[in-house]
Amino acid sequence: MSTSPARTMVTRKSAREVAAMRVAGRIVAEVLERLGRELRPGITTAQLDAVAEELIRGVGAAPSFKGYRGFPASICVSVDDEVVHGIPGPRRLREGQVVSIDAGAIWEGYHGDGARTFALGEVAGPAHRLIETTRAALRAGIAAARPGNRIGDISAAVEDVARAGGFGIVRQYVGHGIGQRMHEEPQVPNFRQDGKGMELQPGLCLAIEPMLTLGSHEVEVRPDGWTVVTRDGLPAAHFEETIVVTENGPEVLTRC
Ligand code: MG
Repeated sequence: MSTSPARTMVTRKSAREVAAMRVAGRIVAEVLERLGRELRPGITTAQLDAVAEELIRGVGAAPSFKGYRGFPASICVSVDDEVVHGIPGPRRLREGQVVSIDAGAIWEGYHGDGARTFALGEVAGPAHRLIETTRAALRAGIAAARPGNRIGDISAAVEDVARAGGFGIVRQYVGHGIGQRMHEEPQVPNFRQDGKGMELQPGLCLAIEPMLTLGSHEVEVRPDGWTVVTRDGLPAAHFEETIVVTENGPEVLTRC
């Protein structure tokens, strides 16, 4: 899940805290991998949510999203022009759709947050390229998350990959620090800003999450108060990993 406001302090996690976040992250990764296997034409987004919640609770964790500011489900499922924060429901998925799934889990009080965009069967060429570019932008952002770099180096790395692909970069929603709260400082924009932001130090945990669009980067929120859609109705993609900055570089926590 992505954030606009964040009003907490920046914290660096101890080895004990990172260990808890590693478990939370692994649960998130397992949920996303499982949902990727469940995806098929005809399945409803509510069914995907039920699978996710059962898996998360079944291992003794709790879903981060359910009840977060009143969000009613354990995952977000955002289809085609929906960018992020889509609410699961009775809608049936169809061949050719671009399906973004975002999941969060809490283990021993610590959050993991991750997202993947899936092509449901064959999708149009540009949409396929959008998905692969968003995945590559995330990889580039993660690679920049090393000690001595700054938040702005992550942002620049993501932006460069997105721009090289010719895609729009959503500006209203950004990545974030993560730990005992799902959304902590600092914010992690997917584009350059004035100033390079804080220096990255070992123990800093971040959710890096590029949200790219096939057309214009302009987005709006549907009347349901959650679902963020592109204004031009063109597809979007979203990948997210929770990472910890270590002495040796980034470690991805949302990994099976
Ligand atoms: Mg997030």
